[in-house]
Amino acid sequence: MSEKFGLGSDDTRVRREFASTLHTRPIALYVGSACGILAGLTAYLHAATPELAIASLLLALIAFSRSVTTFGAARLKKRAGNAMRAAYWTGAIAYAANAGLAAGLSMHPANDPQITLLLVSFALIFGAGMALGNSGRPLVALGQMALTMLPVVIAAAILGTPAMLALAVILPAMIVSLSFLALRMYGVLAGQVRLARESSEIAERMSTQARTDSVTGLASRIGFDVGAPEILAAADPQSTIALFWLDLDRFKEVNDVMGHQTGDRVLEEVGERLRNRAPENALIARFGSDEFLLLAELPSRRDVEQLAGRISNDIAAPFRLSGARVEIGTAIGVEIMDRTDPDLERSLQNAGLALYHARTGGRNQLRFFDAMMTRDLVRKKEIEAELRAAIQRDELSVYFQPIIDLQTGRIRAFEALVRWFHPEKGELPPDEFIPVAEDTGLIITLGNWITRQAARACAAWPEHIRLAVNLSPAQIRAPGGALGILRALEDAGLSPERLELEVTESLFLEDDAQTASFMDQLARQGVQFALDDFGTGYSSLHYINKYPFRTIKVDRSFVSGARMGRRSDAIIRAVAEMGATLGMETVAEGLETVEQVEAVREAGCTLGQGYHFSRAVPAHLALLMLEEEMGAPHVRRAAG
Ligand code: C2E
Ligand code: CA
Ligand code: CA
Repeated sequence: MSEKFGLGSDDTRVRREFASTLHTRPIALYVGSACGILAGLTAYLHAATPELAIASLLLALIAFSRSVTTFGAARLKKRAGNAMRAAYWTGAIAYAANAGLAAGLSMHPANDPQITLLLVSFALIFGAGMALGNSGRPLVALGQMALTMLPVVIAAAILGTPAMLALAVILPAMIVSLSFLALRMYGVLAGQVRLARESSEIAERMSTQARTDSVTGLASRIGFDVGAPEILAAADPQSTIALFWLDLDRFKEVNDVMGHQTGDRVLEEVGERLRNRAPENALIARFGSDEFLLLAELPSRRDVEQLAGRISNDIAAPFRLSGARVEIGTAIGVEIMDRTDPDLERSLQNAGLALYHARTGGRNQLRFFDAMMTRDLVRKKEIEAELRAAIQRDELSVYFQPIIDLQTGRIRAFEALVRWFHPEKGELPPDEFIPVAEDTGLIITLGNWITRQAARACAAWPEHIRLAVNLSPAQIRAPGGALGILRALEDAGLSPERLELEVTESLFLEDDAQTASFMDQLARQGVQFALDDFGTGYSSLHYINKYPFRTIKVDRSFVSGARMGRRSDAIIRAVAEMGATLGMETVAEGLETVEQVEAVREAGCTLGQGYHFSRAVPAHLALLMLEEEMGAPHVRRAAG
């Protein structure tokens, strides 16, 4: 860096620094000029030789004219830059030469020795002072000292007395040593200036770096915080300001499978697409690993909607990266800022909330913030806070819903379903609090607790009755997830072969390797798996093929819900047939009527579950049901 700027440019700076003290604070010049006037006039009035009289008068006149030009220049400072400098230098040279000349002439023996003392002292001190003031220009300093001192040296040499001869030797020696001193001072000062410049450059560079994202060249989070208020301040009050918050779908997968370099290229490309799509003055930032913020001023809400749709399409378009084709998408949360009361912090919160809703809606989703989202969030926060305490306070319990063999009508298993009896809110459905537990990580503790409770109950049942427990994806992703479940079984004294974990397809969208290892760990201990809610998600046969499922649970919407009908009947039939071929059980969920039971049995499902048989009941009732069944072994429940 220092080579690049070189000493040269620092030289100029140091010189400028020196000169600027003189020019911006001309007090030194005024004092110098006043001294010159005083010395010159005094000598003029008492000069014995006409030469001295002329030189003294000239000295006084130059001193006077210098103070006048300095005063004028100080007022015209900016415009008069060059002219001022020229005047300053001419004046300085003339002044120095004249001071030296007057001093030299005053040494003529005809003159009063006190006048000589006055003028020689003035010349020497003035010369030395000028030299220090111009230490940035060693040659100028040397020249000025020479101009003021040489006439004195010459006069002393002409006078030729021993004292004068000594002076004639001393002065040049002083000129030389003062020049060195001036040069050294200049060196020290130049070093300081260079240091100051370098550190200010580093600070500048660091602050620019902190404000930009190194991968995409977009703003960083800090850059966003700095830039956003500027956009708000400059915006037209009639326009619409929208804050977009993007979170890429599947980015983690790309990163893991194709490597970080490809991941970075994808981010770069996303940044590029955003830049190309966003209006000129928009602020685009990346933060987190795969999240982007865009703050844009647009004419109307319609334009915001249009832009959001276009961005979504842009990012969904495939990427070609060194031959590989990568497809990602993005969830987008949009907040339209309140122009009467703009609050960036709140808008970020709202956009984040809209993004959260977009993310839970599936892939490539777009949501605009609305106030309902805040209400949902408040309720979620309440639930979150209370859920932690609920586990301790025993407000949660595990209920059991029987799963019936459609051929024999006998109970084959119970599905554990958690229940929360809230002291004020009443019974809270698991659909409401399980997602909260998943979001907050509480599900890991909660899930292990449920498994332990359920396993305890199951341990009291006859050997052939199995236990089904629902498992959240978060439990699988948690470190030591499989161990937590095995430990719960051990605590309850239940053999792992009696447990069947129900998982949904959403699980497989995330981390393949981890899911496989989790399932493998448990399968090796004899735990079985059921694919839950089949038909509602991606229903990819790929998963059935890839993972060791023993059971498929056909979602209740096919049996008693919205999807009921001839088509769903055909689907149930196909699934049951596939199950039979692969040696899997097929459970029809949500059986509420005897007709439904008949239909699914006829379609080939092996097991059934639903209100027709029983709702989920507490453990002691589940046990009672089993005892009852043992007492009456020939009752065929399935037949109603
Ligand atoms: P799921 O695993 O599909 O559970 C079946 C749900 O269907 C249960 O609702 C059950 O009460 C209900 N159901 C059973 N028979 C019928 C019927 O004939 N008609 C109708 N309309 N519904 C029926 P629940 O208990 O409210 O659970 C809802 C969801 O919450 C469960 O869906 C499951 O995804 C989740 N969940 C429940 N307990 C747990 C748990 O312990 N752990 C985890 N991770 N999730 C749970
Ligand atoms: Ca289930
Ligand atoms: Ca289900």
